[in-house]
Amino acid sequence: MTKHPIIHQAPSPDRQPNVEDYPALCARFRWADAQAELDGLPGGKLNIAHEAVDRHVLHGAGDKTAIRWIAKDGTVRPISYAELKTQSDRFATLLHQLGVERGERVFSLLGRVPELYAAVLGTLKAGAVYSPLFPAFGPEPVKARMQIGACRVLLTTETFYKRKIVPIRQELPALRHVLIVGPISEALPDDVHSFDALMAQATDGPGIVATAPEDPALLHFTSGTTGKPKGAIHVHQAVLAHHISGKLALDLHPDDIVWCTADPGWVTGTSYGIIAPLTNQTTMIVDEAEFDAARWYQILQDQKVSVWYSAPTAIRMLMRAGAELASKYDLSALRFLASVGEPLNAEAVLWSQDVFGRAFHDNWWQTETGAIMLANYATGDIKPGSMGRPLPGITAGIVERLPDGGVREITAPDTPGELALRSGWPSMFRGYLDEAERYRKCFADGWYLTEDLASRDADGYYWFVGRADDMIKSAGHFIGPFEVESALVEHPAVAEAAAIGVPDDRAGEIVKAFVTLHRGYTASDDLEKEIMAHARKTLGPAVAPRIIAIAESLPKTRSGKIMRRLLKARELGLPEGDTSTLEAFA
Ligand code: ATP
Ligand code: MG
Repeated sequence: MTKHPIIHQAPSPDRQPNVEDYPALCARFRWADAQAELDGLPGGKLNIAHEAVDRHVLHGAGDKTAIRWIAKDGTVRPISYAELKTQSDRFATLLHQLGVERGERVFSLLGRVPELYAAVLGTLKAGAVYSPLFPAFGPEPVKARMQIGACRVLLTTETFYKRKIVPIRQELPALRHVLIVGPISEALPDDVHSFDALMAQATDGPGIVATAPEDPALLHFTSGTTGKPKGAIHVHQAVLAHHISGKLALDLHPDDIVWCTADPGWVTGTSYGIIAPLTNQTTMIVDEAEFDAARWYQILQDQKVSVWYSAPTAIRMLMRAGAELASKYDLSALRFLASVGEPLNAEAVLWSQDVFGRAFHDNWWQTETGAIMLANYATGDIKPGSMGRPLPGITAGIVERLPDGGVREITAPDTPGELALRSGWPSMFRGYLDEAERYRKCFADGWYLTEDLASRDADGYYWFVGRADDMIKSAGHFIGPFEVESALVEHPAVAEAAAIGVPDDRAGEIVKAFVTLHRGYTASDDLEKEIMAHARKTLGPAVAPRIIAIAESLPKTRSGKIMRRLLKARELGLPEGDTSTLEAFA
């Protein structure tokens, strides 16, 4: 599949990469080595927040800036590791004073404000379980998740409280306390408190709870790309994988300025927007504002961001904004760029190489895996369009499900099958909340089955084919949407593409592609034909779309993933299913 030239990365003259010799590191890596980089707590206990914050303060790095928070108006507020420790200690005390017990769940429905970070870490210190809600969710998706998660304490703002919680309050019997962050303009019920007022009183507490490695720590809902979101439970032990994947896959060093642009409402925004940058003692950027290409470049420049972790949807928006905008900024501090969440087309990798002088390193993981599992590293070759190779400590494979419920490993290179991981890594989810059977079905013969299809080449690089649900079966063979979409976005007019299968009497299914256009192009029959001709030339007539529709926009989850199932349902006039994570869509 690789028709794009391999990018050979030259070793950096001034910095030792964390992965120097990938095969050698894989051969010698043991998870106990990861454990050895962390403190742990006496008696074999472990707490994520201790490793993320307290450890550094105890080892003398309290003055170091942990977070550089950028308010919407551009004001920058640095927060030191020591301050984050004090604030998270207080939040843990506050929860204790409210009677929150170990394992109970604390949810947040908040923008990217400093209080959020103290609350996440404080929740973990209190031995409670933290679950983020994406702030743009309306009352229904908020209710569904709070009900499944039996939310005990909710952290939110007065506006969100009135707009999103009051209408559903009666249907949340487990909810005991609401903490309001920011100003309160009018009297609120007794169980609704001011975050600031309670924090001011929470001075003297019992300290960090000595959680066991297998104690639950995080509850993350999946993105809902393929259906109803599932609540995946993660334990404190996951910090081993957060830490090591940050170090190896994102090449984090303590002098890095790290910007993970994912919202903390999603797993990426927690694992790499909070935990991994902190356990690796970096300084992380948090921007309160929403995406804006010029603002992003300004932040990359002014904050001297060195490691930037983003997503294909954002990269596509930057590509749409044009290379000229990027050229106005000094981005020389940037040294490592990575992307996750959706397939990253080779086109985007090559574009970033061109525009930033650095390629985006694609990596792959899921809410269920808790941490990066496949990655392109800071050293070695990048094959544009490939998700890279397994993280040291992770065994990946391509498997085929058998009728008896078992699986067979496919070892022949370049043969598509289901991407699977040998179960038992530290950040593996420990359950889907209230869905024990569904959880059980994710495993077979010692493998965790990802429901993503991929192939592995002879060099051990993994190539995404498509989600199992999104595969198209045409005239007897399977077509992965990624291959079709990657070819389409290579056409200069095409900004985004989504391919689905639509029923056809002769072929079973034929490929239909929806595309959006770059600025400066207008939809026309001629352009459609030209894109079609390009696709046929690149993909061949058997795989190329038979129908191309130029669309204004594509339906996406709020985390920016294209929802092919929705395009298909709409195309076929079928029920749309759960659309709670659908972003506002024309
Ligand atoms: P749901 O499980 O509710 O349908 P989701 O799978 O989108 O939602 P997440 O756990 O947020 O929820 O996303 C993980 C999925 O995103 C992966 O299984 C894969 O399909 C896709 N993905 C993530 N990274 C990549 C990547 N680098 N290349 C291709 N696909 C990716
Ligand atoms: Mg999924």
